[in-house]
Amino acid sequence: MYRQQRLEAFSSNLCFLVSVNVAIATLLVLSGIYSDIGTDKLVWLMGIYLACMVRLSVHFFVPNNNPYKLDFHFMGVLLAAVAWASFPYLFHGEFGLREKAITIIIFCGMSGGSATLLAADIRSAIAFTSITVFPYSFVLVSADNYDERVIGVMSIGYGVALCLSSLRSCKFIMSSISDRLKVDSLVKSLEHEVESRTEKITLLEQKDSVTGLLNRTSFLAMVKSLQEAHPCEAPECRRAMIYIHISKFQLLCSNYGHGYGDYVLNVIGKRLLNIDERYNTIASKWNGSGFILYFPHGNNVSITRFIENIDHLLSREVQYLSLITTPSFHYGFYELGGEMTLSNAVNNAYLSMLEGKKKNIKIYSFDQGLKDKLQWQEELHAKMTTVINTDDFYMVYQPIVDVTTNNVSGFEALIRWELDGKFVSPDDFIPIAEQHGLIFSIGKLVLRSSLQTLHEINQHLPHISMSINVSVIQFENEHFLDHLRKLLSEFDVRVENIHLEVTETAMIRDLEKLSYVMSEIKKMGVKISIDDFGTGFSSIAVLKSLNVDYIKIDKTYIDDICHDEKDRSIVSALTKMSHAIDVKVIAEGVEEQSQKALLSGYDVDFYQGYLFSKPVQKDDAFTLLGIKPDDASAVVNSGW
Ligand code: C2E
Ligand code: CA
Ligand code: CA
Repeated sequence: MYRQQRLEAFSSNLCFLVSVNVAIATLLVLSGIYSDIGTDKLVWLMGIYLACMVRLSVHFFVPNNNPYKLDFHFMGVLLAAVAWASFPYLFHGEFGLREKAITIIIFCGMSGGSATLLAADIRSAIAFTSITVFPYSFVLVSADNYDERVIGVMSIGYGVALCLSSLRSCKFIMSSISDRLKVDSLVKSLEHEVESRTEKITLLEQKDSVTGLLNRTSFLAMVKSLQEAHPCEAPECRRAMIYIHISKFQLLCSNYGHGYGDYVLNVIGKRLLNIDERYNTIASKWNGSGFILYFPHGNNVSITRFIENIDHLLSREVQYLSLITTPSFHYGFYELGGEMTLSNAVNNAYLSMLEGKKKNIKIYSFDQGLKDKLQWQEELHAKMTTVINTDDFYMVYQPIVDVTTNNVSGFEALIRWELDGKFVSPDDFIPIAEQHGLIFSIGKLVLRSSLQTLHEINQHLPHISMSINVSVIQFENEHFLDHLRKLLSEFDVRVENIHLEVTETAMIRDLEKLSYVMSEIKKMGVKISIDDFGTGFSSIAVLKSLNVDYIKIDKTYIDDICHDEKDRSIVSALTKMSHAIDVKVIAEGVEEQSQKALLSGYDVDFYQGYLFSKPVQKDDAFTLLGIKPDDASAVVNSGW
């Protein structure tokens, strides 16, 4: 056991031991303590030197990894011991009592030292003592002379004590070796632990924990260093940032839980790592449901074709226990070139994906059209901040009509913006206002203006309602409820005539928060409409739990209702289910009499559209209701 360590301990004492051997043997022969120095003693001395040289040769020339090295040392010890033991036998006849006593004392002294110094190899320690001390002691014990017998008995006793002491030293050495090994292995395992933790921390810093892909920072750093190492100079060299968006990921999480969402992200992360390996791309996790892929290849490879290929790999089924889903994706890409920073390139890829999503195009490239559009949006944003409180913004009102009686039951308030004499669609500027936080100021103006109009109308016709569009960003604002309460106390209107319209897509943002705000709104007595119903993914169960009052079936279902059987059955089923939970139904964008006739057959409650009226100015809305201009002028004027 512990052969290597024992060898180390043994070897560490060897040179000292050999030196002591040489010194004592030389003194023994040359010091004159024995009566004469004969040739035979010098020959013996040479024998000791030879034994010492053999031992040193083993020490220096036999490699430490030789499994027999300790055995060779043992043989060296045996040789030395026999050489020493031969001394009294060879010269015993010449010794008087003094020489005999000196010899046994020197032997006992040497064995005393060796008992400890050789203890790493117990065979050697015991053999050296036994061979040097015991035989000569027995010779003395068997002598006729009483003094010699006493010396012999004493040296036997001393020899036994030395053997016992060697055993104890050996035990001590073994336990020291074992302790040292334990400490060594503890230090090693600590070092390993520190190494693996450092590795984990580095990984955490560089990688996304759910997907195992690079995070944003390390991705950008890696792409930058790659670009510096391989600049793209040839004219045909093409590189691209590709934004990959998992469609309807929020819905997936709300339906099956965030744990499942993480599982899907993890699977897609693995697929992207395979793609990295296969195509030399660099993938990273960018945000909740978005990934970025850096495509570094040149040589006229079509990026669109490449994306089609990877879409094949990414859109394979994802199975989790018995649940099987098939992810689908939208891709936006930006071809790198010029002075564009990497973050801007990623942003352009992201905007391309958004544009593609809006236009229902799976793979969308950042082109001149999108560039112009973004520039125009920038201009709109800059203009919007300067004109927000002016007459450039105003409200128009579109009647909501009872399908059965064809009477106006209310209006939807719609904002208008005239920029340098040209009309800008709210579809274009509302998203910009939302993006830059201007929607709060716009929303306040819309609410105030619409409530003012409702107040004026209700003074004549108390049953007419006003539907007001509220952006989900407004809903999520912590001051929204307080602001609404304040307006309700300010305007003398029937609260049940106020309908707040929130789009169905808002429900996939933060349903919990939305349901809290909605319940507070309902407590005030205000009604809730779900706008653009059918474009989001909410279920009738969600409508029931949110306690909504109206759904507005999106225009896309009405457009083709006369020709598309599927649209007809959707509208009919939605109406039936809504009625079952006490929710009234409004059809949007009705332009044809034939559409209205069908809606009437499906028991749709209200409709809104160009068939009855386009959105009109406030005065025209009054005229539509039969309120005379004189009556209307009695109340506050139009505009904000
Ligand atoms: P929306 O709430 O779905 O409004 C209905 C849109 O359809 C209006 O467009 C309206 O003019 C149009 N429309 C109504 N009937 C017909 C029809 O028969 N045929 C056609 N082709 N269109 C019809 P508009 O006013 O351009 O508004 C677009 C969107 O802008 C609105 O969609 C709404 O989401 C948003 N919006 C408008 N005003 C406001 C507002 O004051 N606040 C907020 N947050 N959003 C608003
Ligand atoms: Ca609306
Ligand atoms: Ca709508």
